[in-house]
Amino acid sequence: MKVLLTTLPSEGEFVNWTTPKHFQPSAVKYMPLGILSIASNLPASCEVIILDPPSEGWTIKKTIEKIEKEKPDVLGISAISRRVYALNQLLKNTTTPYKAVGGPHATYYADQILENGADAVFVGSLADNEFKKAISKKQKGIIQCCTNINEINFPKRDLLKVEDYFPKDFVLFKAENRLPMFSSIGCPNHCNFCNVQEKRVQRKNPKTIIEEIKHLISLGCKSIHFLDDNFNTNEEHLHKILDEMEKEEINIEWSGRGEAIISERLAKRLADNNFKRIHVGLEALDDNILKYFRKPIRTKNIHAFCNILKKNNIDILGYFIVGTPIETEEYRENLPKKIKNLGIKYPFFNILFPEPDTDYYNSLLKNGIYKKNYWKEFMKNPTPYFEIPYPYGEEKKKEIIEYVNGLIKEFKPN
Ligand code: SF4
Repeated sequence: MKVLLTTLPSEGEFVNWTTPKHFQPSAVKYMPLGILSIASNLPASCEVIILDPPSEGWTIKKTIEKIEKEKPDVLGISAISRRVYALNQLLKNTTTPYKAVGGPHATYYADQILENGADAVFVGSLADNEFKKAISKKQKGIIQCCTNINEINFPKRDLLKVEDYFPKDFVLFKAENRLPMFSSIGCPNHCNFCNVQEKRVQRKNPKTIIEEIKHLISLGCKSIHFLDDNFNTNEEHLHKILDEMEKEEINIEWSGRGEAIISERLAKRLADNNFKRIHVGLEALDDNILKYFRKPIRTKNIHAFCNILKKNNIDILGYFIVGTPIETEEYRENLPKKIKNLGIKYPFFNILFPEPDTDYYNSLLKNGIYKKNYWKEFMKNPTPYFEIPYPYGEEKKKEIIEYVNGLIKEFKPN
């Protein structure tokens, strides 16, 4: 059986003003770990083809031509809501006899995806086992997934040309031959702007994590980033990973994406094991704004966190969100000074964006700031490059973009 797995081309994706262009260098390619994992868990009898159109810069038309040329028996698409226009085009204009869709978009829009031409839709964060079973029986309809992260193989990156995914031009820091991996999926927190859907955290067995790290090293990787939703929600688990690293004498440089709560003991042990940098959503340096975001931390936690990391020489890449309706002039003016005082080496500025299916977007509807359900209409009938109106008016939008550009300039690394 020939199985073609693909991500979606970026052509036509909805406009999202969250991340200023400065932080989005075009040469950075995101390894499609979701479809690589699915591929790594298919039986050896399957012939697997992986396509990654956004990394290749392919248009929708070119992606469809590539799929049609391969004539697969199964087409598996990993879908994100931002690219629903491309998803519908692929479903409509390919002739594969069995089409299956998974990924974050599938959770909320399974019925619509079926209406638009998919045979099967996989709902849930990990669909590896369910996908394998479904394609053998050509099962149709909505399939609920409950694959256990510890019962599947980790993604084999060598199904792709790995060197293509070593980033060439990071804007903030340098990390040679860096590759991502997941040590866990899910985050138990409920920040109002966030679209991480999985609230139940699944953590990989530490021994499997070490095997995966060794696999990455064997491919020439020199720096590993744990791209988890939130990698440090369980310190004991991290200590077990560190035990294994020490036992196996793993000494590669690494970093992780997590939250701003850490003990002295863990920070010290991480630093002793070549952990260089934590990427962390701080979002704001004001308790009212943190409360507005429903962050589980307050400024006192952020201060303690920064102090501990500073003591241990671990760099912080801190994400900040600006543009909340409760932000004051004074807050904006003082933010750069506060960031500098905390020693946050790499501040990364985002603009608050009402992602579909988030509490923040729903609150804009509920409070009457949005008079109609833009995302509902868009998902039903996606048009290319749709842009949702800025909730507080175009003038405010201009003002906030100018403010962020000023911050970026102020913190630009030399
Ligand atoms: S801590 Fe991060 S991943 Fe978790 S809900 Fe908040 S923003 Fe999302």
